[in-house]
Amino acid sequence: MNRPFKPYPFTAKQYPASLPPLAGGVDRVRRPVVVVGGGPVGYCAALGLADHGVPVVLLEADDSVCFGSRAICISRRSLEIISRLGAADGFLRQGLPWTGGRSFYRDDEVLNFRMPMDENQKHPPMINLAQYSIEQLLLDAAEQKSDLIEIRWQNRVTAIDAREDGARLTVETPEGCYAVEADWVVAADGGRSFLREALGLKLKGASYEGRYLIVDIVLDTTRPVERLAYFDPPCNPGSTVLVHKQPEGVWRVDYQLRDGEDPDEAIKPENVMPRVESLLGMMGETGAWSPVWIGIYKANALTLDDYRHRRVLFAGDAAHLLPIFGVRGANSGIDDADNLAWKLALVVKGRASERLIDSYSAERVAAARENLSYGTKSTEFMAPPSFAFELMRKAVLGLAVKFPELRSLINPRQSSAIAYTTSPLNAGTQEAEFAGGPAPGTVLPECPLAITEGPSVRAGHLTDLIGPRITALYFAGDDAVPNELTACEASMLARDIPFAIVRVARKGNDRLLAMYDAAPGTLYLVRPDGHVFARWRRFDAGDVTRAVDHLLQT
Ligand SMILES: Cc1cc2nc3c(=O)[nH]c(=O)nc-3n(C[C@H](O)[C@H](O)[C@H](O)COP(=O)(O)OP(=O)(O)OC[C@H]3O[C@@H](n4cnc5c(N)ncnc54)[C@H](O)[C@@H]3O)c2cc1C
Repeated sequence: MNRPFKPYPFTAKQYPASLPPLAGGVDRVRRPVVVVGGGPVGYCAALGLADHGVPVVLLEADDSVCFGSRAICISRRSLEIISRLGAADGFLRQGLPWTGGRSFYRDDEVLNFRMPMDENQKHPPMINLAQYSIEQLLLDAAEQKSDLIEIRWQNRVTAIDAREDGARLTVETPEGCYAVEADWVVAADGGRSFLREALGLKLKGASYEGRYLIVDIVLDTTRPVERLAYFDPPCNPGSTVLVHKQPEGVWRVDYQLRDGEDPDEAIKPENVMPRVESLLGMMGETGAWSPVWIGIYKANALTLDDYRHRRVLFAGDAAHLLPIFGVRGANSGIDDADNLAWKLALVVKGRASERLIDSYSAERVAAARENLSYGTKSTEFMAPPSFAFELMRKAVLGLAVKFPELRSLINPRQSSAIAYTTSPLNAGTQEAEFAGGPAPGTVLPECPLAITEGPSVRAGHLTDLIGPRITALYFAGDDAVPNELTACEASMLARDIPFAIVRVARKGNDRLLAMYDAAPGTLYLVRPDGHVFARWRRFDAGDVTRAVDHLLQT
C-alpha cells in the first residue's frame, strides 16, 4: 500500500548475500550472540555488545537499510545512548534539532509547547532524521567495528529451535540455506517478528481502528523546525493533521482518515494531492512541492508480557508496538537495546548470573507499559476511538481557546527517559539522607562539568563519562579519592568486572554538586546504561562491593 515517488531523496546502497563457512550445512562456529534484524534496535544491540567486547553476528533479511518513510523523531535520551555507541556525530550533523511546537483548533492556536532545553543539556530534546539515515549512520558505526560485528545481508531466519541453553536458527539466503547455533538470540526482527510468531508468543493490548495517511513531500520553504498539529482544520474539517520538517527539504504530513473512508481510495495520489494542496494553502505555503512517499499508518498499543523466552530476548518492535504519537517506537527500542547489551555482555562473559537478563525483561516491560499509557492517551486525543472521546476532545479544544490553563491537556508529551524506580537491581542505600539528586533507578540528569585530568581541567558533560562499565561517581571536594574506593576498583578489575572511578572535584562543579545534592564524600554508582543503582553520603568498601554483587547476582 506504500507508494514511493521519484525522485526519492535517498538511494540505499545494496549489500550482497553472504554465507559463513559451513560444516554439514551448519555455521562452523557456535555464536555467543546472534542478533536477528538490522533495524535501529538490532544495530544498537550489536554496537552495545561490541562495546563490551562481545562478538555478534547480525542477520538481516533485506539487502539494504530500510526504504521509505518511518521514524523521524529521535529523542535526547536516544542521542545520549547513540553518543556512547560512537555514532552521534552524524545524527547531530544531519538531523534537524527542535524544541517545541504549536497546536491549532480550527483557526485558533491552542498550544505552544516547549520541551526541556536548559543550559545543562548537551543534546537537543529532539532531532528529526529519516529512519533510512538513522539506520545508515548506525550501520556505518557497526562497520567500524567489523572485528566484532559481522553483518550478514539477505539472511532471513525461517525457523528456530529454542532450547534451554541456546537456539538453532535456520537461515535462508539466495546462496542457499544453513543453520547457526547461538548461546543467545536477540530478536530485533520488527513489528511482524517471525521469531515471536514461531515461538507462539502473543502481543497484548489495543489496536486502534483510526488510520493516518502519511505523505512526505519536498517543499520549498523557510519555515522553522517545529511540530505542528491541526485539529479540525478548515482545510480538512473533522480530521487531525500533523506536520514535521525533515532534512533534505522533506516535510512529513500525517492526516487522519475520516470514519468509513476507504484506505485504498484515500491513498491514491489524485485523492492525496488536493488535501496536501489545501493544507499548504491554509499554512500560507506557496513554494513548489512534490510528493515523495505516501503510506498508511494504524496505531497499535501492544506488548509481550515477558521479553525473555529461554535464550531468546525480544527488543524493539518485536517486543512491543507503540503508537507513533509521542514518538516512542524507535526511541524505546533503542533504550531496550541499551538496557540489554551490557547485561547480556556480562552474562556471556560469565561475570553475572542469568538473573541479570531477567531484570532486562522486568525493567523494559515496565517501561513499555509506561510508554503505552502515554501513547494511548496521545492516540485517543489525536484520533478519538469513539464518539465519547470525540466529544471530550472537542470540549477540551474548545475550552482551551478561552482558558489557557487547560492547554496542558493538549500537550503531546513526547518520549523521555524512564526511571526504573522499582528495579530489583537498585541497592538499599541512604535515601533518607538525600533531599534531591537522582535516586536509584533514575537516568543521570545531564550537567556540564569540569573534568580534571592530571594537571589540566577541561569542560565536558556528565554523560561523556559513562562508558561500558560500572562508573563510581565520587564527589571529592578538594580531596583525593579515598584508598578504600581505589582498593574496591582494583578488586573489581581483578574479578574482571568493568569498573572505573570518576573523581568530581569541587572547583568548577557547583552546579553539578547542587543538582546531585552532593557533598564531599558522596558516591553514586552508575550502570553502563547511565541509570543510578546506588548512592551514599558516606560509604565503606563493603557497601560498594555488596551493591555491585547485588547488581550482578540479583
Ligand atoms: C510512519 C511511522 C512513523 C514513525 N515515527 C517514529 C518516530 O518519529 N520516532 C520513533 O521513535 N519511532 C517512530 N516509528 C516507529 C519506528 O519506525 C519503529 O519503532 C522502529 O523501526 C523499530 O525498530 P526495530 O529495529 O525494532 O524494527 P524494524 O525497524 O522493523 O527492523 C526490523 C528488521 O528486521 C529485519 N527482519 C525481519 N524479519 C526478519 C527475519 N526473519 N530474519 C532476518 N531479518 C528480519 C527487517 O528486514 C528489518 O530490517 C514510526 C513508525 C512509522 C510506521
